[in-house]
Amino acid sequence: MAFKPEKPSIHGETPDSLGARLAEAGHPRYRAGQVFAWLYPKRAESAEVMTNLPANLRSWLTDNYDFSGTEVLGKKTASDVTQKLLQRLRDGSLIETVIIRAPMEGVGQDKSRRTICISTQVGCAYGCKFCASGLEGWKRDLSVGEIVSQLVQVCRIEDQADPARAAEGLASFDNIVVMGMGEPLANYDNLLAALKTVNAAWGFGFGARRVTISTSGVVPKILKLAEEDLGFRLAISLHGATNEVREQIMPVNRKYPLEQLIPAAKIFARTHGRMLTLEFILIEDINDSLDQARKLAAIARELHAHVNLIPYNTVQGLPWVRPSITRQDRFVKELRALGVTATLRREKGHDIDAACGQLRLQKEKALGADPSPPAAA
Ligand code: SAH
Ligand code: SF4
Repeated sequence: MAFKPEKPSIHGETPDSLGARLAEAGHPRYRAGQVFAWLYPKRAESAEVMTNLPANLRSWLTDNYDFSGTEVLGKKTASDVTQKLLQRLRDGSLIETVIIRAPMEGVGQDKSRRTICISTQVGCAYGCKFCASGLEGWKRDLSVGEIVSQLVQVCRIEDQADPARAAEGLASFDNIVVMGMGEPLANYDNLLAALKTVNAAWGFGFGARRVTISTSGVVPKILKLAEEDLGFRLAISLHGATNEVREQIMPVNRKYPLEQLIPAAKIFARTHGRMLTLEFILIEDINDSLDQARKLAAIARELHAHVNLIPYNTVQGLPWVRPSITRQDRFVKELRALGVTATLRREKGHDIDAACGQLRLQKEKALGADPSPPAAA
């Protein structure tokens, strides 16, 4: 269910769907291609700038579509690593999109790596016990236009910040991660339609293999995604290597326990031929024991997956504790000793994870123009 604004977002259209609407309104269908040449390569902010279109078509577009997309209320630089864009949707809901400017530990030397983290829902129904996004439940799904618009806004901001790179647009970024607010696979159709725009030559032309979708483990949707002929990468938020531990912190495990999740992940990995990522938040005395490390290693080996360890970021009001550095090291060493490739995003990761996983609390505060960094920092 998505909110229905008065005017649909132009960023929710494809050349085919826009062509059909143009034809219905008596305009030539081929004009859609001209509109798209402005929309993504040039990030046009209105129909008025589309100077090769006749005036009557420009006013028809203005009357029938919203071009501005999400409204950027503010930019917050949480550190030298992350920049958050607080965005207001047409119904007043707030979401954040994050630009992460540093490499993740172990991934590469190039300091200029840039990743964009996008949201797919307002709130989240999955209620993981450590996550700020799920604290107040699910409000609604984002529309296709709202998902795409987050990327358009990032490009517009970067166009201003670095005009020399403006011609590159989204291509100047290294990765897009669907790890912001919400469970992406619970808004499956809108997510896939938005990612089609991200990937298509008529859209952003951004390689599917540079896009990672993160899920808490919605098994039927993982299987559905495995059947699609798309090259997006998948990250699974595991956070527990046994049902017992996982259930304590992730209610989704009751519906889709590991006996279902692991085979589904295997099918995905097999059909896509790409390495999966298993995300594992380390929470003291919940999942940071050596026994969990060994069981996690067994799962990772079975799936040929890479493990991404994320020390828990404190969320106000929640009881969990981030393990000491000694315990974090002990865990990662055990994994590596068992032949698993694992990264531990520790130093800069603190901000990065706050950016990607703890949106809701921060956004509410930010509206009050509170410039404070994430709760965990
Ligand atoms: N719903 C999807 C994607 C959004 S959450 C999912 O769960 O995978 C993105 C990532 O942030 C997940 O791995 C999530 O577990 C993590 N995350 C949430 N709260 C966190 C916290 N307090 N500390 C560290 N990581 C957190
Ligand atoms: Fe939802 Fe992901 Fe947060 Fe769980 S971790 S509540 S699935 S956003």
